[in-house]
Amino acid sequence: MPKNYRAELTGVFGDPVDGNPTGAMEEAGFRARNLNYRYITARVLPEALGAAIAGARAMQMKGFNLTMPHKVRVIPFLDGISEAARAIGAVNTVYRENGRLIGENTDGKGFVEALGMVGVSLDGKRVALLGAGGAAKAIGVECALAGAAKITVVNRNRARGEELAGAILKNTVADAEYLPWEGASSIPACDILVNATPVGLGSGEKPDIDYTGIAPGMVAADVVFNPEWTAFLNEAKSRGATAVTGLGMLACQGARNFELWTGERAPFDAMYEALKAEFAE
Ligand code: NDP
Repeated sequence: MPKNYRAELTGVFGDPVDGNPTGAMEEAGFRARNLNYRYITARVLPEALGAAIAGARAMQMKGFNLTMPHKVRVIPFLDGISEAARAIGAVNTVYRENGRLIGENTDGKGFVEALGMVGVSLDGKRVALLGAGGAAKAIGVECALAGAAKITVVNRNRARGEELAGAILKNTVADAEYLPWEGASSIPACDILVNATPVGLGSGEKPDIDYTGIAPGMVAADVVFNPEWTAFLNEAKSRGATAVTGLGMLACQGARNFELWTGERAPFDAMYEALKAEFAE
């Protein structure tokens, strides 16, 4: 057999992108499955996104992730996007299908899977979402598509909060509402409370809510993955809630990307361990 030195290419385009840990996770997956794939972490400025996508086509990349500030502006450069990505209004993963570049959003799907890993189903559940940015949109829409009965969006900015509640009502059969976020906001009646803001990222801060509303039996989930155990999750756990970390969500969406790009089952444990190692003290 002649040797094959050609690698299949995947990666991420963003700016800034230096601290993005996804490559460590995906490359660990490729090694575990003995696949000659590479993941390139590339700084792409907003004005160069079109050229980067043309380059990805020219190099026949298997797929790539988009991070800030490209998740929305990438859409016109693609050949198609999934229904969920359209409802969310953003794409974080692109894969190739019959030579066409298709946009998908795996953030919310990763969130739903991370809940499933601790035995939490969304069926008939009431979800309260703190925040209405990109992560909140993906989580809100996917929780609704996964069977949640109601999504309550709590956000400072009214326009963004109402837009997300409206998108859920328009694209899913779930009920949805917006509530303004005022200081030490009381938590709306819910089964699953999600911090979908960056509060707690690299700090001991937690969202300004009334934590006495967290009762045993509830689930608290965070999108923040560094630190893995945020002050929000620790507080919720001390009040008897089941805690779901943002690192689990990140690993689950990474596993989905792996499967879209390689067509093989993701070696989840190897990928999760590699991700954890990136954040070990
Ligand atoms: P965006 O900037 O799109 O949205 C941020 C949201 O948080 C906005 O709704 C904003 O409110 C709200 N917010 C920000 N600061 C505060 C505050 N001090 N108090 C109350 N609300 C606040 O960010 P993203 O949604 O893209 O990212 C959010 C976090 O999710 C980041 O930390 C990111 O790393 C993480 N993330 C994690 C993933 C994972 O797999 N674990 C995947 C994707 C993202 P307003 O609208 O009022 O300004």
